[in-house]
Amino acid sequence: MKIALISDVHSNLEALEAVLRDIEKEGVEKIHFLGDAVGYGTDPNQCIKLLAKHCDIKLLGNHDYAALGLISLEGFNKVAKTSVEWTQTKLKKKSIEKLADFELNSTFLDYALVHASPGTPDEWNYILGIDQATEEFACFSQSICFIGHSHIPTIYTEETDGTVSTSLSNTMELDQNLRYIINIGSVGQPRDNNPKACYLKIDTDNSKIEYRRVEYDIDKTQAKMRKAMFPDFLVERLAVGR
Ligand code: ZN
Repeated sequence: MKIALISDVHSNLEALEAVLRDIEKEGVEKIHFLGDAVGYGTDPNQCIKLLAKHCDIKLLGNHDYAALGLISLEGFNKVAKTSVEWTQTKLKKKSIEKLADFELNSTFLDYALVHASPGTPDEWNYILGIDQATEEFACFSQSICFIGHSHIPTIYTEETDGTVSTSLSNTMELDQNLRYIINIGSVGQPRDNNPKACYLKIDTDNSKIEYRRVEYDIDKTQAKMRKAMFPDFLVERLAVGR
């Protein structure tokens, strides 16, 4: 079965629509969403609606959690905080109800799914290096843990002797004897110097993964953000993927 894993849409409707079109073209049977539907972009309601309609498993990210008022905004930087507050003023009742149905973590086949880290899903820790990845491998029992949060595609591999290494390639056949933590990248705000929307496709029959990069109308997204008076930094980063 082919499944698509998508994450960090961040209210970027044009990116989400482009990714959903690509997923349809690829003959994917199920879509799972790993969190951060909202924050940073101009279309929180439309994005929540599309995610609720198309995705099977739907997870909460830290921005969703904050938009629902479930955590304080203390840990957020100024731009992120302003963006959460803006989102709260725009969210319709229906969207809030839909978002409140999203989960903190889940499992599918032999996969763990979480936005930030499997050990403490509601603490929103980043897995950014081998040391953190090594600790997190002890926190799930499945073969693969798929994550989002940093917006940077990364593959951590745990060898049979417990050593962890990191690598990245656009396509890879996973070794069924090893375990992995795989960051699937971001649909709506890529930060790996590639502005194209990113998601991960996996064929569950042979454990082949593929990072898909999808072009979308960035000019249109940026024009909407400028009209809504969003900070230049947020607008400009979309064009460079940083
Ligand atoms: Zn995010």
